[in-house]
Amino acid sequence: MTWQVWHVSPIITSVFFILGVFTLYQVLFNWLKTVLDERKIKFDEDVINSWFGVIYMLIFIFSLQSTIVGKSSSWEFMNFIVIALIFCAYFLNIRIPYYWFIPIILVYMVFNGSIGYWESWCHAVSVMFTYWSFNYIKRLHTDKYLFLRYMLVGISWGAIMWFFVAIKFSLSRSVFIQEWIYLIIFEILLYSYVRMLLRESSLKVHLFEFANHDALTKAQNYGAYNSEIKYLFSNSQKNNLNLSMMMFDIDHFKKINDTYGHLAGDEVLKQVVSTAQSVIDANDSQVLLYRTGGEEFNILFPGYDLQSTKPLVQKIFSALNNMTVDFEDKKIKVTVSMGVSAVSKRDDEPADFYDRVDINLYYSKKHGRMRITAQ
Ligand code: GH3
Ligand code: MG
Ligand code: MG
Repeated sequence: MTWQVWHVSPIITSVFFILGVFTLYQVLFNWLKTVLDERKIKFDEDVINSWFGVIYMLIFIFSLQSTIVGKSSSWEFMNFIVIALIFCAYFLNIRIPYYWFIPIILVYMVFNGSIGYWESWCHAVSVMFTYWSFNYIKRLHTDKYLFLRYMLVGISWGAIMWFFVAIKFSLSRSVFIQEWIYLIIFEILLYSYVRMLLRESSLKVHLFEFANHDALTKAQNYGAYNSEIKYLFSNSQKNNLNLSMMMFDIDHFKKINDTYGHLAGDEVLKQVVSTAQSVIDANDSQVLLYRTGGEEFNILFPGYDLQSTKPLVQKIFSALNNMTVDFEDKKIKVTVSMGVSAVSKRDDEPADFYDRVDINLYYSKKHGRMRITAQ
């Protein structure tokens, strides 16, 4: 096998071409996500997926088609186009209202020189229905017969689309059947391959969640805190940005465990996190909560100085000290002590900043607990 003489049958080439297009999509999409994550740009994954998916597929469809436009063989990439549509509609779950198709299809038909053919119009309408049908079956709230539904829709619309193409190009019955069977094979391959890709990437997401979150309270853990504080601290020093931190610790938590049992203690921890988190969510979702120790929590306030941190700290303090945890018909009262401080130009590393917060928390503990020390 050399560069010039590479005798591989077209079906094999097309299979690997199609799989390559989807793998490249996955790799590029993951790369884009990592870049955005690294730059701390907040994004909605579904929006990126939709825009990126549509643009990516359109580039492929138009550039492939440009090589055969106007030729008698200009139907040759039809199966690829259908597979690309299924990928966007079913696997990427990109919902495009049918009227969005009108300009895209018109541009495509002008580009393809097929606007004057009734068969092409019928084909275009079938494309819209195919897309809609794949979207529709994806959104049915049942996982039953997933593959069967997918194949039924793909096979029937595939036949209709090929029917119009066959009329327009006067394709023989055998070519029609052969292309339709190829489409069915591609659909099966696409289904199996994408499911394999998705399984691998959802595994990675789970591992990531597992590594960064505390299993009991679902709050982010010390590891996540550690990497975030490093980033926020250096960013604040470099760009002269405000940053503050609040640390709180449950008072006499050991006594709660000793009096009500360890499970009651666990329930207290869970409710402390959900109460603090709901105050944060209601005020500023940029503020980040971490469980950094057994009954110890850190909250990072990017962009806040000491003064602007106080009102939110006060809200969290009131919410936590007013809560009662119900556990097996017992009512457990919780109090917390807090320490707050903001980054200073004199801090050389995150630990200098952290120590000040810690000293303030310690001060609260030493002076009667259930209080805030901020300086
Ligand atoms: P202080 O007011 O000084 O903070 O006293 P404290 O009793 O809260 O602090 P201490 O450090 O003496 O005790 C903390 C206790 O928290 C000891 C440990 O068993 C308990 N703890 C740590 N992690 C968990 C957990 O995940 N679940 C439960 N139930 N208890 C935990
Ligand atoms: Mg404690
Ligand atoms: Mg403690």
